[in-house]
Amino acid sequence: MATAGLALNDGKTLPQLGFGLWQVPEDQTARVVREGLAAGYRLIDGAAIYGNEAGLGEGLRSSPVARDEVFVTTKVWNDRQGTASTRKAVEESLARIGLPSVDLMLIHWPCPERGMFLETWKTLIALREEGKVASIGVSNFRVADLEVIIGETGVVPVLNQIELHPRLQQAELRAFHAAQGIVTQSWTPLGQGRCFEAAPVRAVAARAGKSPAQVILRWHLQLGCSVIPRSTRAAGLAENLDIFDFSLTEAEMAAMSTLEAGERTGPDPAEFN
Ligand code: NDP
Repeated sequence: MATAGLALNDGKTLPQLGFGLWQVPEDQTARVVREGLAAGYRLIDGAAIYGNEAGLGEGLRSSPVARDEVFVTTKVWNDRQGTASTRKAVEESLARIGLPSVDLMLIHWPCPERGMFLETWKTLIALREEGKVASIGVSNFRVADLEVIIGETGVVPVLNQIELHPRLQQAELRAFHAAQGIVTQSWTPLGQGRCFEAAPVRAVAARAGKSPAQVILRWHLQLGCSVIPRSTRAAGLAENLDIFDFSLTEAEMAAMSTLEAGERTGPDPAEFN
């Protein structure tokens, strides 16, 4: 059952382990949300672009778990950056989910060529002050992008949700986050299964009697990251939550670090606009 919490720099607490809704079909989303909450998850990662915010809201409402026990994240998509557009995008997300506010709103990508992420960040700061969102953060931001928004506003995002898995370990960003009090949250944490056969993963799995996915998720937790795997299967959701009865040793963590390959599964934030 549920998960430890990570302290956010605005005084709130984030469940460390949650589940994501990317590519979950809208007509299955309410079921996945209900099953996830029933299994013990208390963190749900959504986004406007996933096209399933209504299902997220329906799942929340039809679950016996109280709303205030669940941490709900959603995100502003790239073509909604800018003051007026972001305000409207946030209102639309809240209306689709059916909530007066969400726990965390993220800028989905920096989109450097658009040149609007600072204005968008200032808008999220205002929306937080108005109570539309409880906490604010970013996703796919590079060190340079973070330096701009922090330097210009003095407001440090509570987290940065980035691609992170054994083949893309993001050491530089993690160190910057740690120095700034920003939580690192790993997306595509299982790396689309690319490391399930890797020797260091297999070795821990054999020793601890766990699956490769469980070993990799446990590795994220021990790095200090928040992690949001996705599974549309109830058994997958339960398996990914069952990672609190074992740990990787220091030597096993060191062996995992050798899997770094600088290999992305998704776009490079420098080029995605
Ligand atoms: P994951 O790394 O979580 O992998 C999901 C895949 O792994 C699915 O095919 C799933 O299949 C399978 N899987 C899940 N659990 C297991 C298991 N225990 N054993 C074997 N296979 C398993 O990928 P995602 O790309 O979905 O990333 C997770 C979340 O991160 C997203 O849902 C989204 O919320 C977020 N994200 C954010 C991005 C951003 O730009 N901010 C970009 C991409 C993702 P099955 O359903 O059959 O279990």
